[in-house]
Amino acid sequence: MMSYDLVVIGSGPSGRRAAVQAAKLGRSVLVIEKGLRVGGVSVHTGTIPSKTLRETVLNLTGWRERGFYGMSYRVKRDIEAGDLMARLNKTLEHEVETLDHQFSRNRVDTLRGLASFVDPHRIEVQVEAGETRLVEAARVVIAVGTRPLRPPHIPFNSETVLDSDELVKLKALPRSMTVVGAGVIGVEYATIFSALDVRVTLVEPRSSLLDFVDRELVDDFIHQLRDRGLGFRLGSKVQSVQFENGQPVAMLEGGRRVRSEMLLFAAGRVGATDALNLAACGLAADERGRLVVDPQTFQTEVPHIYATGDVIGFPSLASTSLEQGRIAACHACGEPLPPAPTFFPYGIYSVPEISTVGLSEEEVIKAGTPYECGIARFRETSRGHIMGLNGGLLKMIVAIETRRLLGVHIVGEGATELVHIGQAVLNLGGTLDYFIENTFNYPTLAEAYKIAALDAWNRLTPRREAVAGVATASL
Ligand SMILES: Cc1cc2nc3c(=O)[nH]c(=O)nc-3n(C[C@H](O)[C@H](O)[C@H](O)COP(=O)(O)OP(=O)(O)OC[C@H]3O[C@@H](n4cnc5c(N)ncnc54)[C@H](O)[C@@H]3O)c2cc1C
Repeated sequence: MMSYDLVVIGSGPSGRRAAVQAAKLGRSVLVIEKGLRVGGVSVHTGTIPSKTLRETVLNLTGWRERGFYGMSYRVKRDIEAGDLMARLNKTLEHEVETLDHQFSRNRVDTLRGLASFVDPHRIEVQVEAGETRLVEAARVVIAVGTRPLRPPHIPFNSETVLDSDELVKLKALPRSMTVVGAGVIGVEYATIFSALDVRVTLVEPRSSLLDFVDRELVDDFIHQLRDRGLGFRLGSKVQSVQFENGQPVAMLEGGRRVRSEMLLFAAGRVGATDALNLAACGLAADERGRLVVDPQTFQTEVPHIYATGDVIGFPSLASTSLEQGRIAACHACGEPLPPAPTFFPYGIYSVPEISTVGLSEEEVIKAGTPYECGIARFRETSRGHIMGLNGGLLKMIVAIETRRLLGVHIVGEGATELVHIGQAVLNLGGTLDYFIENTFNYPTLAEAYKIAALDAWNRLTPRREAVAGVATASL
């Protein structure tokens, strides 16, 4: 029987980071992965494929140039599924190779097969048809992630009715598409396909979308999407899906129907814990297959077994999963880390993209903190002019008494990169003055921070002081 200091089940972001971290601390580590290749949902069906698809669409459609050349501008006139898949395959190949190399460089062993517990320290792995191996582990990290929710009333057929894992194997581009579920995944795919001039309708049972994002930003976002023809059916639940002439028709509560060539069901994911035989190690998952952990150490109720990544639920991001893996591995190796900083960024790679860090205006109001906002439109920056940007908005929220930054919310080109400036200032306890006093590269979109800060400063500063302060604040 093979024996290891740490056995990691799953090779997605959290499993990978946990394994490499423990190996770097000198421990013997095995990663068990049931998939054909290492990388997890993140590399094969989630983060990397969707972001590669997005980048390909933006490049081939000439999306970023349309501000100058008009909405009919195209780099490639007839974009086909094959164009999108070619770049995807290349990117995935590179990601897997990098990962394989990272494991071998750090002497992390890998075993392909389906893992299930025999008892709290022993794991059985089904390697090839019928063949099994037994592995002993001093400590275990469960990093099995999630799989798409596939409710029985949705007739999935891998061709015209798909889940988000199947979408990355698309054989032909539809002319129209219904996206069910306006969470991050649904919104990303709906807007990416809409950028390809596919007629998209987004269906969501709640009356709003992206509830964790600042409302002003979401309103601006929805306005941009409606403007380019994306349809919304908010407050509408899908009761069933029927077929007419081979095309799926979503039958909504209240009698409305949405017909399209393809239906993407992207309303939720469930923890992939069912094959683990959790009872044998003394654990049980909740009704959505998720595990409960100590949020500081990522230990489950069984102290030598950790769980990280999407299997523990919110926030279910590759970025946070990586950190959770690192923290769990350090704790398991007896080298605990301080807790992660309070604020992490959220990146939504829609078209246009959204990124946010810290408190939304709604959360600040709820907390009762007196506050002020500053707003900058990207078209107010020279860089925005040069790039031909029409949309794009940065909103900054600051506390009136301390001038401390409370939140930064961005929609528009480069939002997911720009947000890290706000994140640094926020987690280091900085104030509005940081943006006013520091020199920024020019011309950049980051200048929007300065403009938003000056906007907030103007609102915070009584009129006479504001006039006197003009010279120092370089208005
Ligand atoms: C469409 C989509 C887009 C996304 N975009 C982003 C984004 O832009 N940014 C971001 O930060 N996050 C994004 N995410 C989320 C991100 O992909 C996840 O947060 C991340 O993959 C979770 O990592 P994980 O470590 O939990 O493992 P996962 O990546 O879920 O991988 C788990 C692995 O465990 C394996 N496994 C499961 N059960 C067993 C078993 N019993 N035995 C052996 N192996 C097993 C699976 O085969 C899988 O390879 C996206 C997700 C989706 C679906």
